[in-house]
Amino acid sequence: MRIAIRGGTVYDGTGAPGRICDVLTDDGRIAVVGDVDGVDAEEIDAAGLAVGPGFVDLHSHSDYTLLVDPRAVSAIHQGVTTEVVGNCGFGCFPIRDPDTARRAIYGYSEDLPLTWSSAGEYFARLDAAQPAVNVLSLVPNGQLRLATLGLADRPADAREVGEMEALLRESLDEGAWGYSTGLEYAQEQAATEDEVTALARHAPFYATHTRRRDDGAAEAVAEAIRTGDRAEVRLQVSHLVPRNGLAESRRCVELVDAARERGQDVAFDMHTRTFGLTNLYAALPPWALALGRDELAAALRDPDLRDAMRDHRSILSAGDDWSRVVLLDNDIWPEHARRDIAAIAADRGVDALDAVYDLLLGGVDELHRLMVTINAYSEEQQREAFAHPLCVPGSDATTLAPDGPLRGSFFHGAYTWAAWFWRFMVREERLLDPAEAVHRLSGAPAERIGLSDRGRLVRGARADVVVFDPHGFEERGTTFEPNLLAAGMRHVLVNGVPALRDGQLTGARAGEVLRRPTYS
Ligand SMILES: [Zn+2]
Repeated sequence: MRIAIRGGTVYDGTGAPGRICDVLTDDGRIAVVGDVDGVDAEEIDAAGLAVGPGFVDLHSHSDYTLLVDPRAVSAIHQGVTTEVVGNCGFGCFPIRDPDTARRAIYGYSEDLPLTWSSAGEYFARLDAAQPAVNVLSLVPNGQLRLATLGLADRPADAREVGEMEALLRESLDEGAWGYSTGLEYAQEQAATEDEVTALARHAPFYATHTRRRDDGAAEAVAEAIRTGDRAEVRLQVSHLVPRNGLAESRRCVELVDAARERGQDVAFDMHTRTFGLTNLYAALPPWALALGRDELAAALRDPDLRDAMRDHRSILSAGDDWSRVVLLDNDIWPEHARRDIAAIAADRGVDALDAVYDLLLGGVDELHRLMVTINAYSEEQQREAFAHPLCVPGSDATTLAPDGPLRGSFFHGAYTWAAWFWRFMVREERLLDPAEAVHRLSGAPAERIGLSDRGRLVRGARADVVVFDPHGFEERGTTFEPNLLAAGMRHVLVNGVPALRDGQLTGARAGEVLRRPTYS
């Protein structure tokens, strides 16, 4: 299949200025960037539009949702052609006990049981699902720990570290691209710096959701930098901007800049929300999360056990300001939806933590249905982070679709991230010019993860191509109505095959599961 994209302003993904020319794709690769005359090809008129390499989402959580609905509708409508999954220590392999493993998988549902175990088996399962986007994965530390220590809330001993190293190496040999941690999450909190360093040594790339994203955030970034340095690994600090203000953001960025100046290979990314999104059950300590349904219900009813839970410092207790934590739409507590925990607590005449425990008790059968946003970031923090040359945006979300099995799910960022980035940083704030913004969405993340044949529009590269209206590309989803497709994306080619044509899905699912080339 040949496609001639004519007369658009072509940004090649390197950051070089745009120029008006044609692009010809042939059999899944870029054949010409320049003048295309006298070829027999399907035509796309790109006059007045921007043309760039397909966007690469370096920070995706679509590991599991792509199996549930491989169309990746929310992503395709933003020009995303490649997703890097396995971030934040969450992901779909290696799995020993499915019951435990589900704790570190976004969007898990009983409808699609975990029938695979290794990275290779998961990749085969993903191949069979035929995703619309290309997918590559990191090895999630959460699953390494769950497979080895289960829910034990303690450092790994030497034998367990060895076991995790073997699982990590096997996963890398089967095609994973790096290693990730989510040290703030219950299943990884007890992982020591030495334990993580021992593992990171085996990987070519290490992405970390650091141990603390509130008080102590800068020290947690310093830990990541030490780990990257000692393990001699390319380091990516995931969603670097902390939840406790601009001054701490600046400290985190300064640490990255200083490490870079010392010659360390480190960069960072950021999601595009001014709030974090998580499960309400993240307020519980690990020992409570390890309980079965009936035991947890009993514990949530028991005043003494509630007291024992109160000491837990959780991702939700950010600054102890519960007015910043907002319960999202749900069918368990509809009367409290879209309201903050402080207001809900006042209504119920209890303190904030008791309100949280009451809400969880009501939802104990389906805890994942209770999700909250934590208002945590300012636009000033976003402007500074995204203007920094080492920062790329990422969804920090799963792909979703407004119809089909995922229509009722939400994960802020899914429908909005790349479109928000373009509207906010290019059109409104004018902090990035179009060429640089396309680079941050394509060439920069592709290079970061080690993809050499994507992220650039050059002859011979794989033909992942976007054609969009630079004046109309923007998000439509909002905090309380997030599931609206982005506007302005016109055509998207994945491996040379149109997934979006004239703003409409074609139904084609031409993505590939990308295994990291290994050389023997
Ligand atoms: Zn994360």
